[in-house]
Amino acid sequence: ARQFTRPLNDLANQFNTILSAVAGAERVFDIIDEAKEDAHDAPNSLQQKLSGDVRFASVYFSYEQGIDTLEDVSFHAKPGEVVALVGPTGAGKTTIISLLSRFYEVEKGTIYIDNKDIREFPRNELREQMGIVLQDSFLFDTTIKENIRYGRLEATDEEVIAAAKSANAHTFITQLDQGYDTMLDSNGSAISQGQRQLISIARAMLANPSILILDEATSSIDTITEIKINEALSKLMEGRTTFVIAHRLNTIKHADKILVLEHGKVIEQGNHAELLQSRGFYANLVTSQNTNQSS
Ligand code: ADP
Repeated sequence: ARQFTRPLNDLANQFNTILSAVAGAERVFDIIDEAKEDAHDAPNSLQQKLSGDVRFASVYFSYEQGIDTLEDVSFHAKPGEVVALVGPTGAGKTTIISLLSRFYEVEKGTIYIDNKDIREFPRNELREQMGIVLQDSFLFDTTIKENIRYGRLEATDEEVIAAAKSANAHTFITQLDQGYDTMLDSNGSAISQGQRQLISIARAMLANPSILILDEATSSIDTITEIKINEALSKLMEGRTTFVIAHRLNTIKHADKILVLEHGKVIEQGNHAELLQSRGFYANLVTSQNTNQSS
């Protein structure tokens, strides 16, 4: 099942770069992991848009022989639900996302999307239906317009602009001297970090995926931009199954399902109220956060 044996950092970086760039753009995957994977790929093509029903059934995975990174992970996300992945660094949150996007293959157990084993889906088509917005958005060395169009290469200029509008990005873009033709660079000197995120949200809007993966920002962004981002994200999440690697209690509280992970195991799952009642790990976490933020 394991196809890569690269050093951890290298892979983590690569994963990050790839994920950030995806937002429905399976081309990036193609560039990086081309032939390696295609030999094993599924023959039957996806006939239609997925509804985004995601089920992990007793999933096991290890990067290194003998060390279980995920152990017996099971959960069910219904179409349109928001699932918050919570837990300390190294708990396995990113790995769950990597398996879902078939960047790695499960070792034991099965992942189903719309009741089909994901190994039956061709990787590129699967990833085309997944949008990803990371806290550190990946942008290409090209114009804002083309950066957004990366979500769907056939999109017209009008569609690009419509996506920017619904992502709350249009106003700031049109205030730039060069507007949509402003050149960006991957280091992002031309615009702020929050604006970069709005652009990646616009890109995901355009891609119109059934499944959305969000990595919530930990770094602080100015309040006004943050409001714009949150508003844009809510709009983006509408009608899509969303997995959030969540850091903020406020996000987690509103999730339909919270998966609390520790050492690769789901130690608790349920919504905020349910988990508070069970008085476990999550309840403790919430209590300590409330104490810390009591200002
Ligand atoms: P989280 O996202 O919750 O921080 P990860 O899923 O990134 O956790 O990591 C889970 C465990 O797997 C950690 O112990 C991490 O060190 C290990 N790990 C992650 N990626 C790799 C890799 N590419 N190779 C080997 N071990 C890895």
